[in-house]
Amino acid sequence: MDFSNKLSDLKQQHLYRSRKVIDGAQDTKIVIDGKSLINFCSNDYLSLANHPLVKETFKQGVDEYGAGSGSSHLVSGHSKAHHDLEEALADYTGQKRALLFSTGYSANLGVFSALRDELDWILQDKLNHASLIDGNQLIGLPLQRYLHNDIASLKKKAEKQSGKGMIVTDTVFSMGGDQANIDDLQKIANFSNATLMQDDAHGFGIFNANIPKNSIYMATLGKAAGTMGAFVAGNADFIEFLIQKSRPYIYTTAIAPAICIATLKSLELIKQGEQKAKLLANIDFFRNFSKAISLPISKSNSAIQPLIIGDSEKALNISQKLFDQDFYVSAIRPPTVPKGIERLRITLSANHTQNQIEQLLTQIKHALQ
Ligand code: PMP
Repeated sequence: MDFSNKLSDLKQQHLYRSRKVIDGAQDTKIVIDGKSLINFCSNDYLSLANHPLVKETFKQGVDEYGAGSGSSHLVSGHSKAHHDLEEALADYTGQKRALLFSTGYSANLGVFSALRDELDWILQDKLNHASLIDGNQLIGLPLQRYLHNDIASLKKKAEKQSGKGMIVTDTVFSMGGDQANIDDLQKIANFSNATLMQDDAHGFGIFNANIPKNSIYMATLGKAAGTMGAFVAGNADFIEFLIQKSRPYIYTTAIAPAICIATLKSLELIKQGEQKAKLLANIDFFRNFSKAISLPISKSNSAIQPLIIGDSEKALNISQKLFDQDFYVSAIRPPTVPKGIERLRITLSANHTQNQIEQLLTQIKHALQ
């Protein structure tokens, strides 16, 4: 196998990816190679990853439960900390039960894996997250996608299916920040003998979840909640079925209990609402200021604010120019988004200041000229 040639190809197409080593905690200010930057590409939307109370509680969790879970949930790894968090998440989402997974990626694979013998067809939004696409591939059903956020396109495809199906959507789209219309999707699901599954990785903790009866809800804890892991919530039988049948659930080590203790504190802070109010004010300020200086930011009310560039090389160049000015904003390229809609994905957090947002937008305006 010739990896060297393959890597050169990726470089030539401006699709090569590299990691930046962050020195210290995830926050609105980060340090990379000794350079201090304002971070506008973190999913730590509520600034909880480095929140003093969450950190303190995490440490207490380590004192009580040690560093690791030691096992999978079905052997000896399911602690009271995991169980309490599941109950708190079920309560928060208004569902009968919730089930913790180690990551959002494995939670999505886990739902598909459990439903392998239950489904005849699946329809997915064209811009759904990679883990939902991979879950679909995992169980061998054809990947069928309707046009992004287009109910007419979904309806047309749904009418052609027979047997039991599942309609799958991101709730807040990960690269666009726009939102699915859950009520409309559920109506199509009702007409077509299908279950609706939503992935609310980017809305959880920020927007009130809309979870129709007997639908499947998944959300992650590594974003607004500031820790890691994910959960699926729904009716009691469905959750019990996942425990029996979901291979990515069964065959993996449970996350460290201390993470659950920290996440319980995050959940308290989410409910208290102060960080959320700060984030929503920042989103408002960002949108108003970008409009005032005529920056063509796509329509989005979430923490994800995309600026479509339409070319990988150009997106990388602008990202680099911003980096030189001490702003970290990532360029999103294929295969994360389709070719032609390459973009800067700007993400806002509760602890950004309006001054930082104003400076970023001014620098982007310069970089585009
Ligand atoms: N779903 C969506 C929509 C996501 O954006 C992500 C992560 N970027 C995931 C699932 C996977 O979550 P995790 O990072 O916890 O694996």
